[in-house]
This record gives sequence, structure tokens and C-alpha cells, in this order.
Amino acid sequence: MAEQQFDIVVLGGGSAGYATAIRATQLGLSAAVIEKDKLGGTCLHRGCVPTKALLHAAEIADVARSGESYGILSSVAGVDIAKVNSYRENLVAGKHKGLQGLLKANKITVIEGEGRLVAANTVQVGDDRIVGKHVVLASGSYSRSLPGLEIGGRVITSEHALELQEIPGRVAILGGGVIGVEFASVWRSFGAEVTIIEGLPHLVPNEEESVSKQLERAFRKRGIDFKLGVRFQSVSQDANSVTVNLEDGTVVNADYLLVAVGRGPATQGLGYEEVGIEMDRGFVLTNERLATNVPGVYAVGDIVPGLQLAHRGYQQGVFVAEEIAGLAPVIVEDVNIPKVTYCDPEIASVGLTEAKAKEQYGDANVTSYEYNLAGNAKSSILGTAGSVKAVRVVDGPVVGVHMIGARVGELVGEAQLIVNWEAYPEDVAPFIHGHPTQNETIGEAMLKLAGKPLHAI
Ligand SMILES: Cc1cc2nc3c(=O)[nH]c(=O)nc-3n(C[C@H](O)[C@H](O)[C@H](O)COP(=O)(O)OP(=O)(O)OC[C@H]3O[C@@H](n4cnc5c(N)ncnc54)[C@H](O)[C@@H]3O)c2cc1C
Repeated sequence: MAEQQFDIVVLGGGSAGYATAIRATQLGLSAAVIEKDKLGGTCLHRGCVPTKALLHAAEIADVARSGESYGILSSVAGVDIAKVNSYRENLVAGKHKGLQGLLKANKITVIEGEGRLVAANTVQVGDDRIVGKHVVLASGSYSRSLPGLEIGGRVITSEHALELQEIPGRVAILGGGVIGVEFASVWRSFGAEVTIIEGLPHLVPNEEESVSKQLERAFRKRGIDFKLGVRFQSVSQDANSVTVNLEDGTVVNADYLLVAVGRGPATQGLGYEEVGIEMDRGFVLTNERLATNVPGVYAVGDIVPGLQLAHRGYQQGVFVAEEIAGLAPVIVEDVNIPKVTYCDPEIASVGLTEAKAKEQYGDANVTSYEYNLAGNAKSSILGTAGSVKAVRVVDGPVVGVHMIGARVGELVGEAQLIVNWEAYPEDVAPFIHGHPTQNETIGEAMLKLAGKPLHAI
């Protein structure tokens, strides 16, 4: 049995885990990452990157289909799913190679194998004991299902959906959250009949309500069907199809049912409870500085309750490394982390919705302005509809920005700076945006809230 010692031992080499190790070695600490599968985790291999590759292929199909309205004589002769898949796989393989090189360049020890926490300072991998002055748990998440809903055959999760070698003719999607609407968008662009089933009253229910409603309008226009406020009851399948029964008696027939009801923490059987770590339904509980109740043990990424996003994982990893190094880093609350949903139209937001802001500050102390993309030249050039809504405290800072429309994910960087710096519209309104860009929409919203609208009334 061999023993290796490090300043920081990270269990899990996904976004959160490898970010911890990179920042740790930059700060002069020695770090090991234990990974049982592939460095990069869910985001790189089964999440962010491959889904966005599919969405890009889908966008190309849509652009080709709509070419004629711009005077370009194009059409979609078909979708070669094998080629789409090899584009996706090559992209992921390239990024994986790059990531391996990055960790090597940062002198991080990567230990291949399945780790188990056997003491507050030790992870066991096979016969080897990897000992750290600090241990960072970063074991990530898995696709959840509902009680009694078994995954298998034509009832699939996002992992299986990515690997499909065909474009389904008809597909049902259980869950109208981020993953559900992204796959709906891809499959519709590839020509499938899509039905989303969502138990809550709106698609993307965590977003500003006006954004959800605009998405529903856009999806309806695209021919994506959805059933809202109705719960799943049962599913049966045969060799060629699935039959999905809903509690209101509706029956949805499809080739596949994608179950997209959220992700659970991958913590079972890893020794966390045995070492005395406080858990809640499988999630690792931490204080606001990401320390668990066991001294020297931290947790980052999807196993920590809250938003499950790769960039939250990066930020938490960097935070924990800096915390261990004694740099007292700044906490970024989940609410101020930007969120992007890459369906068509895209959705991006940061900060409080108007309803939440009113709960927090009182109805009379909150004001908002929703700028319609119809007033923005670049959005009209692109042929996209949508809006940018900014929420501010009266005579106070901007506390939320909520956007929908083509490419708005690229605008959320500025929005998150405004919200995180607690900027007043009056502070940022004088700054200039290139014309014609979609960035101008944020400028217009700030101008209006500062009382000097330009292309708005
Ligand atoms: C379909 C889909 C699309 C997504 N799209 C986006 C997006 O566009 N943007 C975004 O920000 N987020 C997106 N996400 C979420 C994002 O992928 C996760 O938030 C992120 O990967 C979490 O990082 P993590 O490091 O916490 O966990 P993971 O990425 O899950 O990494 C955990 C790692 O730990 C390893 N591991 C687990 N147990 C052990 C063990 N015992 N021993 C050794 N290794 C172990 C796993 O193999 C894995 O590599 C998406 C997720 C999905 C499923």
C-alpha cells in the first residue's frame, strides 16, 4: 500500500475539482486530483460542451432553413446525425486533450481511479492512500429520475440523448427546465415533433415570468408542443415507442421519453457520512465559505446545494483554494451567478427576478424596465424577438437583469458586472456600446432607468 501526501487532495476531476487544483498550484500548494472517469467531468463530456455543440448544429440548420428570407437560396437537405455526432465528439476530445495539458502544465498530480473518503484527511484509491492537509470533495452529479420511473430502453436521460444515433421522429421530454428546453430546441431544429411535459405553470420556471412567457410564445411558433401544470403519471414502452400518461388523462406518444427532472448529488457510497460529514438528501452541507463541519474538508460544485452550473463550480474551486491559502476570497452568492439557457431563443439572467426583489425590498421600493429587442437594430438584423428586463431598487442599485432573444448569453457578462458591482443605472448609463450591437439593449435599459431613454419611450 502506497501513501502520497499533498497540501490539497481533490476527489473528482470535473469543473469544480480541477479548478480547485489549478488555483491551488498557482498559489504554491501541491495538489492531486482523483478521477475515476475522464478529467472535465459532466460539463465537458456529457453536459455543457456537447449539448452546445448540438445546439450550434441545430442553429446552422435553422439558418439554412431561413436563408430565403434574407435572399440566400439555401435549404436543409437533411441532417447527417453521424457527422453531427463526430463533430461533437471531436470537439470534446480536443477540449479534453487541452485540459489534460493544462493540468500537467500546472504540475497537478492526476490519480486515475475511484476514490473513497476513509478519514478526514485521506482518500483511498485501490490500495493507495492519498493524504491531504485539506480534502476537497467534488464528486459531481448524476441524472435523476422520479420515484417509479425507471430509466432504460426508450426512456432516456441526457447522457443517452447525446449519444443517440438517430433523430427521433417524435420525442417527449419530462421537465421544462434548462436541460429539457435545450434538447427540445435541438430536436425541433433537426425536424422532430417535440412535446415537453412540465409540472409547474411555466417552462424554465426559475426564470423571470415574462421571460418564460416569451419562450413559450417562441416555442409555440417553432411548433414545439408543451403541457404545463400537469404531472407525469406513468410510461410504458415497446420496441418502437413510448406511451406517456399524464395525471390529467392526457396521453403522449413518442419514440423516446427524455427524463430531464434535475440532477442529484453523486455522493452515495463515497464514505462521506462515515467520516461524519453533515449531509442533506445526498448533498454535502457547507458553511458560506464552503467548509464542511469536518475540519479540513471542503466541498465544491454540484454536490453543494444550489445552482448546478459549471462556472459556479469553477468559482467555488478557485474560492476554496484561495481560502485554504489564507487569501480570504470574496463570496459570490448563487443569486448573482449568471445563468444561460442555450435554447432558441436564448435566455440569460443574473440577480433577482422582479417578484423576488419585491419580496426582499418591498413592492414600493422596486422598479423595472423591459426593453423590447424590436427597438434594437442588431436584433432586427438577426431577426430575433425578445427583451432585456432590468430590475432596480428605487434610488438604488440594479439587482437583476433578465434577457431572452438570439445570442443574449453573450450579454450576460456585462449584466453580471452591473449586478455584482451593485451599480446604479445612473453610474453605468453614460458608458457607450458599439452600434449596432445587441449590447446596446443593456445600455438602453440603463438609460431608461436613469431617466434619459434614447431609443425607448
Ligand atoms: C446535459 C447537461 C447540460 C449542461 N449544460 C451546462 C451549461 O451549458 N452550462 C453550465 O454552466 N452547466 C451546464 N451543466 C451543468 C454542469 O455540467 C455541472 O454543473 C458541472 O459539470 C458540475 O461540475 P462538478 O465538478 O461539480 O461535477 P462533475 O462535472 O459531475 O464532475 C465530478 C467528477 O467526479 C468524478 N467522480 C465522482 N465520484 C468519484 C470517485 N469516487 N472517485 C473519483 N472520481 C469521482 C466523476 O467521474 C466526475 O468526473 C449541464 C449539465 C448537463 C447534464
